[in-house]
Amino acid sequence: MVKVYYESDMNVNALEGKTIAIVGYGSQGHAHALNLRDSGFNVIIGLREGHSWDLAEKDGFQVFSVHEACFKADVIMMLLPDEKQRNVFENEIRQHLTSGKSLAFAHGFNIHFQQIKPPVDVDVFLVAPKGPGHLVRRTFETGAGVPALFAVHQDHTGSARDIALTYAKGIGSARAGVLETNFKEETETDLFGEQAVLCGGVTSLVKAGYETLVEAGYQPELAYFETMHELKLIVDLMYEGGLTGMRQSISDTAEWGDFVSGPRVIDAGTKERMKDILRDIQDGRFAQEWIQENENDRFNYQKIKSQEQSHSIEEVGERLRKMMPFVQNRSK
Ligand code: NDP
Ligand code: MG
Ligand code: MG
Repeated sequence: MVKVYYESDMNVNALEGKTIAIVGYGSQGHAHALNLRDSGFNVIIGLREGHSWDLAEKDGFQVFSVHEACFKADVIMMLLPDEKQRNVFENEIRQHLTSGKSLAFAHGFNIHFQQIKPPVDVDVFLVAPKGPGHLVRRTFETGAGVPALFAVHQDHTGSARDIALTYAKGIGSARAGVLETNFKEETETDLFGEQAVLCGGVTSLVKAGYETLVEAGYQPELAYFETMHELKLIVDLMYEGGLTGMRQSISDTAEWGDFVSGPRVIDAGTKERMKDILRDIQDGRFAQEWIQENENDRFNYQKIKSQEQSHSIEEVGERLRKMMPFVQNRSK
């Protein structure tokens, strides 16, 4: 069984007197920076000039170039998009990563797939919240936290583990539970989860259900409610009480339909294909293709993105959500 650490287990303050540079101020960056500052730590931000820079200054941070922030910092947290980290690391960070400093990540991709090879005389760890940055901030503000994984890749100082745990506590995750893992496990399970279930699996399931109803002549608005809008209500019940808890809240008719039709949608063939996806992640093929796609200026990525954005479920959904003022788009 995995060991879970909570605030009460943590008598550590391995970040006392240290300066933490948060590099990047996007989804994760803003949440880590604000939570760590509220927890009493000394936080500065490393960025290029632009939207995020203005935002971080507006939030009251001292913002520097990535160079300067990493020069000043003891702990450098890499919160740039994964595919940009390698270049920024080589050009703006490596030279400031002097002996005894820490290099931290929120996802193991670049270390595990050896895109970044840090010097041997620094600590390298990850603290990966299991939720989007906006939730990491929002739950912290309510006194709670988003659970996180942590892992140590290099422990030069002998304190890497304590620093990682202190960091996890600082962003509020120890209020919910911090689980120990390694870079390989975090990277592979994270990629698999987002591809097969959380993002890829769910968006494809929703679209297929919506298209089936619309192609059969039902009104798109009803199809939207049945296949997208209500999903949140069901997922909330699963989040609170597991599959059993969710099934207690739905009608027996819905539950019987779940039992007999669910396995017709997701069958043994689906699981075989999930295993293929996992294999592509484990053997590095997915990572290689994504790195290549970025080197080709994201030609396919942009093409698919614009096709997805013009799907009719998006047009119908935008219209319907405007009629539901209680539905807020809080990721903007
Ligand atoms: P975002 O895309 O939200 O933010 C990226 C930030 O990096 C922006 O502030 C952007 O600033 C800045 N940036 C981009 N390029 C540069 C550059 N060349 N120099 C300086 N700053 C730059 O990233 P995420 O928060 O989504 O991801 C960060 C890390 O967190 C990744 O490792 C990801 O895997 C991990 N993670 C993300 C989760 C999530 O929910 N999003 C969940 C758990 C982990 P600008 O405004 O200038 O573009
Ligand atoms: Mg991920
Ligand atoms: Mg119903």
